[in-house]
Amino acid sequence: MSAAEVLEFHVPRHVDWQDYAMCKGRTELFFAPKAERPQARERREARAAKLCAACPVTGPCREFARNGREYGFWAGENEEDRHLLGFTVSAPIGIRARNAGAAAS
Ligand code: SF4
Repeated sequence: MSAAEVLEFHVPRHVDWQDYAMCKGRTELFFAPKAERPQARERREARAAKLCAACPVTGPCREFARNGREYGFWAGENEEDRHLLGFTVSAPIGIRARNAGAAAS
């Protein structure tokens, strides 16, 4: 069991999981800036993933992002990861839009 899993176990169910988010104030790591290049995205998401790995609320965060069809990097997953698991965002952009269109036809 990882440190994050141990901490997650101790977050009471009745509190807002976002109060325990390790990414507070780090929005720039979790959402792509305009015209971000693939290599820069990989570097940004790798830094975000390190925060997620130590975060005590990955479970509810992941569930929120998947069910809400959210954009951005949540609980170690980007939109593409969620798309591949069947949680496609409502209006995919760029290459994701082309892939989603190909999958639908
Ligand atoms: S798992 Fe990652 S994205 Fe989710 S609240 Fe924690 S740090 Fe933020």
